[in-house]
Amino acid sequence: MEPICAPATPLLSSSVAIVRVTGDALGGVLAPLIKLSTPRVAVVRRLKWDGYSENALVLYFPAPKSYTGQDVVEFHLHGNPLLVRRFLEYLNYIGIRMARPGEFTQRALVNGKQDILDVEALQDLMEASTDTQLRQAQAREGKMPAWIVEARASIGYWVAQAEASVDYGEDEDISLDMSRLKTWAATLKETFHVELRRSASARWLRDGICVAIVGRPNAGKSTLFNALAGEERAIVTELPGTTRDILEAKCQWADLPLYLFDTAGIRKTDDPIERIGVARVDPVLQRADLILHLVPVVDGTPSPEILAYLEPYSEKVMVVRNQCDLGVSQGICISAVDGNLSALEEALKQRFFGEFAPDACFGALATARQRSLLTELIHQAELILGICSNTPPEIPASLLQGAWGLLAKLTGEDRADMALDAMFSGFCLGK
Ligand code: GDP
Repeated sequence: MEPICAPATPLLSSSVAIVRVTGDALGGVLAPLIKLSTPRVAVVRRLKWDGYSENALVLYFPAPKSYTGQDVVEFHLHGNPLLVRRFLEYLNYIGIRMARPGEFTQRALVNGKQDILDVEALQDLMEASTDTQLRQAQAREGKMPAWIVEARASIGYWVAQAEASVDYGEDEDISLDMSRLKTWAATLKETFHVELRRSASARWLRDGICVAIVGRPNAGKSTLFNALAGEERAIVTELPGTTRDILEAKCQWADLPLYLFDTAGIRKTDDPIERIGVARVDPVLQRADLILHLVPVVDGTPSPEILAYLEPYSEKVMVVRNQCDLGVSQGICISAVDGNLSALEEALKQRFFGEFAPDACFGALATARQRSLLTELIHQAELILGICSNTPPEIPASLLQGAWGLLAKLTGEDRADMALDAMFSGFCLGK
């Protein structure tokens, strides 16, 4: 845990650049540069090294009340990248090495300042690119969900009960109340179920929904793409076959983070460029979470040619009738040109969020790691529910220990098999 340093702001010309240092006993390490004074009070100090002289704002957070749990010192320098580099070189010279990406947060985790759920939320916060994603990550930051706190307390109680009946059962006539245990396990399983469903929905807020827009030429795909993306990206014309390549846009629409793909119209064509465009559709369809098959109202039924093409992906196809300003139809009807898209909004929310409004997913666990542990916890609760009443107490004791262990993995108290290095390598320097 040697002292480390890193720029906490990008190495670009800017008004202020922040350099962060953390380590044990920084007062001694930084003595050649500065005498650290009052904790958590910003002081202006003239820093001198190698002929440089910089007027800096300095903040000192002594251990353990700091981001990393060790001493932390922040230097606010003038935002000149060369100055920052020279300053970092000097810090290296006095024995403070450059931090790896995410190493500050890794220390915070190791020193118990953050749990793994905080770190995952922080990672999502740094990567968020829509307002919804920001709010989703912020809702998860800094607090352990109440249901985890409660589950942990109640599993702890039952582990103790089960262990007592294993250790002293026969001598002291302590036996596990199986019927109460099962009532509890059923409630716990339901809690995990609700959280898993919420998590499955929260995933879409976190990862975004990949939507491919397909349909015959002139179905209104580019018009819809532009309406969803909120900008004129795709060319809209009355000539069939004008979208010859795949257009992509990342956007937030109706509070949903969407990755949009406007595909070339699917049709047999002799135009070589358009043919390449059509060939590029398949990989997009494979990747898509939803294929929006746009069928103009005037068409009556969808084109059999396109239906056949979409057959392998039928589970993710949603037929949407466009141009409802020109006629009526059953199903999800929109008018891309008028921006009348409320039926589409409702259908998307229903499909991806079901019983929950997107807002209700804020704060839910959202990563694949968390979802897989929730699934395991449900399985564990089922095993407890399946115990026969005359089973020796060792069985419930070991199943309860299993549930305890899974919860510890979820919160990161048990990090034995966690690929922490891989996780932190995605962080920025100085975080
Ligand atoms: P694409 O070939 O499927 O990308 O279709 P475009 O988006 O280029 O649209 C083809 C034509 O249909 C354009 O003239 C659009 O203005 C028109 N269009 C698109 N959506 C609608 C709609 O909802 N109603 C009406 N009336 N026209 C539309």
